Amino acid sequence: MRGSLAGPRVLLRRLREAMAERISAQERLDKIVTLIAANMVAEVCSIYVLRADGVLELYATEGLNKAAVHDTSLQIGEGLVGLIAAEAQPLNLSNAQSHPAFAYRPETGEEIYHSFLGVPILRAGRTLGVLVVQNRTRRVYTEEEEEALHTTAMVLAEMIAAGGIASIGRAGIELDLGRPMHFVGAGLVEGIGLGHVILHEPRVVVTHLIAENVYDELERLDASIASLRLSVDDMLARGEVAESGEHRDVLEAYRMFAYDHGWARRMHEAVETGLTAEAAVERVQSDMRARLMRQTDPYIRERLHDFDDLANRLLRDLMGAPHVADMDLPQDAIIVARNMGAAELLDYDRAKVRGLLLEEGGPTSHVAIVARALDIPTVGQIPGVVSLAEAGDAIIIDGDAGQVHLRPTGDIENAYADKVRFRARRQEQYLRLRDKPSVTIDGIDVKLKLNAGLLVDLEHLNEAGATGIGLFRTELQFMVASSFPRIGEQENLYRRVIDMVDNQTVVFRTLDIGGDKVLPYIRTVAEENPAMGWRAIRLGLDRPGLLRTQLRALLHAAGGRELSLMFPMITEVGEFDRAKVLLEREIAHLERHDHSLPRSIRVGAMIEVPALLYQLDELFARVDFASIGSNDLHQFMMASDRGNTRLANRFDALSASFLRAMKSIIDHADAAGKPVTVCGEMAGKPLEAMALVGLGYRYLSMAPSAVGPVKAMVHGLSVEKLKGVLDPLLENGGAATDIRQALTDFADAEGIPH
Ligand code: PEP
Ligand code: MG
Repeated sequence: MRGSLAGPRVLLRRLREAMAERISAQERLDKIVTLIAANMVAEVCSIYVLRADGVLELYATEGLNKAAVHDTSLQIGEGLVGLIAAEAQPLNLSNAQSHPAFAYRPETGEEIYHSFLGVPILRAGRTLGVLVVQNRTRRVYTEEEEEALHTTAMVLAEMIAAGGIASIGRAGIELDLGRPMHFVGAGLVEGIGLGHVILHEPRVVVTHLIAENVYDELERLDASIASLRLSVDDMLARGEVAESGEHRDVLEAYRMFAYDHGWARRMHEAVETGLTAEAAVERVQSDMRARLMRQTDPYIRERLHDFDDLANRLLRDLMGAPHVADMDLPQDAIIVARNMGAAELLDYDRAKVRGLLLEEGGPTSHVAIVARALDIPTVGQIPGVVSLAEAGDAIIIDGDAGQVHLRPTGDIENAYADKVRFRARRQEQYLRLRDKPSVTIDGIDVKLKLNAGLLVDLEHLNEAGATGIGLFRTELQFMVASSFPRIGEQENLYRRVIDMVDNQTVVFRTLDIGGDKVLPYIRTVAEENPAMGWRAIRLGLDRPGLLRTQLRALLHAAGGRELSLMFPMITEVGEFDRAKVLLEREIAHLERHDHSLPRSIRVGAMIEVPALLYQLDELFARVDFASIGSNDLHQFMMASDRGNTRLANRFDALSASFLRAMKSIIDHADAAGKPVTVCGEMAGKPLEAMALVGLGYRYLSMAPSAVGPVKAMVHGLSVEKLKGVLDPLLENGGAATDIRQALTDFADAEGIPH
C-alpha cells in the first residue's frame, strides 16, 4: 500500500466519477468496492448497510463470494461488523479470526483473510453501515489507510442518506436512516405536538465533498479557522461579558477549543486526503459526534458539544448559513435548539410551529415564558438531542409529561394522535363553555381572568372566555427586546392592550425585572440568590427614573379611561407608600402639563412575600386591590426554589400551611372590603382553583389554556358542599392529612372535572 496521500486523492476522484455515471445503484456499489479494493491493495472490500430492523446486510463485495450479497446479514453487536456498528468505532486487526467477536459466515468464504480493517459509515453521528477491507496476510493497516477508509465511508454515507440505494436491499425491508429514540426531560409548556424537526441552527448539508484542488481547500479551511478564532476572541473582549462567572467560563473553554491544534490538524489531514474544506470539517465533526454519543460523563459531553458548536460555525462560515426568515418551514414544524433567546422564537411563523425542544431551558427561562404565551408545547433539558435529530425527522413533543419521541414507531405515533384528538375534543367542549358565565351550582360568581404579557396573548382573550386581564407582566416587552424600550414604545404597547380588552379591566404590573429576569442590556451585579435579590419593586424604588418612566407611559396610555396597576414583591407596606408617592408625582406632572389623565386609577400590591401576611390590615387600608403571586409566595413560604426541578413537586400548595395562609389573606381582604385575585399558576389548575374558591376567592387569573378546564370545574361545584369538606380539613387536618387526596375524592364523588 502506498504511504503517500496520492492514494486517497486518486480514490476520491475515481469515486466521484463513479457517482456521476449513469448506472444502476447496485452497479455503482459494485464499482465502488472494486475501486476501493484496488486503491487500497486489499483483496476484499465489502459494504454492509444497516436496515431499520437492526440488521446489517451485505450490500456489495469485492473478494468475498458474490452470492452472499443481500443474503449475509449480522445483528448489531454480532461479529466484527456488528461490533463496529454498535460502538461506532473502527476495528483494525491483523488476525481477525482470533478476535472474540468474530462470527463465521461460511457462505462468504472469508476464512482465508486474516487482516481486517472496518470503519463505521457515519452521518451526523449516526451509524448507517460498515465498510470493511480485508487481506490474506497478517498485516496491520496504517493510520493513513484507516483515515482513507473513514473518508471513503463518509462519501458512502452521503450516498446512503440521499436514498441512492434504498431500492436494492432485500425486498420489503427498509434502511435504518435513524432509529426511534425516546427522551425524558422537563415539560416546560403543556400540550402535545406532532411534527417534523426543524433545526434552529440548521446543520449545513455538505454536498460538495471531493476537492478539485487540495491547496485551495487548505487555504479556505485556514481562513475559516482564523476567522472563527477571531470571532471568539472578539466575544471575550467585548465589554458585555462579565469578568467572571459561568458565561465567561464557557467562552474561555470555547476559545481553548478554537485554538486546539489537534482539532485543526485532523481537519487538515482530512483535506489532504482529498476532501473539500467543509467535508473535512464534517468528517472530523462526525467522529466527535460518535464519541459524544458514547460519552456518559456530563462534563466531557459538554466539552464535545463545544466542539460540535464550533464545527457548525465553521461549516456555516464555509458555506454561508440560511437565516430563519429564509427557512422553508413545514406546516408542522417542531423547532429543535440547544437554547435560544426569547426574541428568536418570535422570528418563526407561529402558524406553522407545533412544538419546541431545547437541550437546555428551565421553566422560568425567557424562551419558555414566550413559548407559554404562544401556547407552544415545549420540552427542555434534553442534552445532546440537537446532534441526534436530523432536519425533517418525525418527532413528538409531550409537554405534559416532559417526553420526546424522535423518529417514533407507528404505535407511538398512533397513541399520540389519539391523545391529540382527545385533547382537541376537550378543547371543543371548553369552547362551548366560552360564552357561559362562570357560576357555581349554588350561584356563586367566580371571575376568570387571563395572565398576559405580550400582544399575542390578547388574541386568546375572547377565544378563552375570560373576563379581562388579571395580570399583565410588563417585563416581557423588556425581555424580548434587544435594547431598552423607550417611553413611546412602552406607551404604545399599553395603549394597544387597553384598546384590545375593550371595556374589560386589565391590571398592569409594573416591571418585575432583576433576579432571574435579566435584561441583557442592563448591567446588573451577579447575585448569589437572585430570586431573593435586587428585583421588582426594590429595583424600581432604587432606580426611580425607570419606574417613573413606566408609570408615565401607563398614565398616558390610559388617558380618559380606567387604569389599574400594581407593584410586585411588596415586602413592607412602606414600599407601597413610596411607590405610590412616585405615581402621585407623575400624576401631578401630567396635570401641570394639561395631559389627559385616566378617568380612574386603581392601585394595588402583589402579595408574594410572607412578611406581608403579618401586615395585612395595614396593607388593605392602603390598596384598592391586591393580587397574590402564589408562585413566589409558595416558594418563599416553603423555602423552595420555584425553578428547581428537583423540588418541583415536593411541597404541595394544597397543604394545610399554605391554604391557611391563603385563607388568612382572603379573610382580611373581605373584612376590609377589598378584592383579591390569585394570579400564580395555582389559580389555573382545576383542583387548586377549587380549593381557592372554597377558601373564599372569587377572582382567579390564569394562562389562556387553563380557562376552559377551570370553568368546567366551577360549573360542577357547589361551594357550600366543598366548604363542608375543606373547613374541617383546615381546622383539624394539619400535616397528617393528605388534603390533595381528600379534595380529589370530593371532586370525583361530585363529578367535578379536575
Ligand atoms: C407569581 O409569583 O405567582 C406571579 C404571578 O408572578 P411571576 O410568576 O411573574 O413571578
Ligand atoms: Mg411573582
